[in-house]
Amino acid sequence: MVESSTRHPQGADRGCKDAEAPVESYASTTTLRLTEVFLSLQGETSRAGLPTVFVRLTGCPLRCSWCDTTYSFQGGETVTLTTLLARVAEYGVPTVCVTGGEPLAQKNCLPLLAALCDAGYSVSLETSGALDVSQVDARVSRVIDIKPPGSGEEARNRWENIAHLTPHDEIKFVLASRADYDWAREVMNAQKLSQACPVLFSPVQGELAPAQLAEWVIADRLPVRMQVQLHKILWGNAPGK
Ligand code: SF4
Repeated sequence: MVESSTRHPQGADRGCKDAEAPVESYASTTTLRLTEVFLSLQGETSRAGLPTVFVRLTGCPLRCSWCDTTYSFQGGETVTLTTLLARVAEYGVPTVCVTGGEPLAQKNCLPLLAALCDAGYSVSLETSGALDVSQVDARVSRVIDIKPPGSGEEARNRWENIAHLTPHDEIKFVLASRADYDWAREVMNAQKLSQACPVLFSPVQGELAPAQLAEWVIADRLPVRMQVQLHKILWGNAPGK
């Protein structure tokens, strides 16, 4: 995980004029809007429970009804890629999750992800499912939401993303009601999602009882991983946890 090992992210693949520019120069001039970097336990996905450095980028074009990170919509600080990689390295943890907001709303999220992989981290990306994931570095585990009707953002689902799923990606449905559950089950079957990658079902905290969701999953024998948000059980809704 040596910062100086970072190659010029994406440049060669995209035929950029400055593809041969020094890595240090590229990383020191590439900027991102950052809400926070912190060390916690991964609360969701197949990586749940692992000590993980979270990089929360600022901004999101969606407004899900149950969003629990509205503090990331605005504000934050502008940092260079060099600075961000150094902050991540301070924690000395091999697992990194890039999240938001919607991290892909910033174009420089792509070189950030590539740089983290180049530096030797095991990297996951949490994304709303509304934006194109096809350009994300193939080494990244993409955790892609599919927004059910209860989110208020169903129309934003980018269905083209499904064609790009690989077995080390994950699809996540966050569900607020029985209607959301039925919708998710239909989508999952119609799109054969469980054959493409692991599928996660999560209840919206305070709206759908976890035990109720568990009963539905068991009754239908769904090939999904039911999950609760470990970090909220441990620390509630505290930012930076
Ligand atoms: S996509 Fe995520 S960050 Fe954006 S509004 Fe929805 S839940 Fe919040």
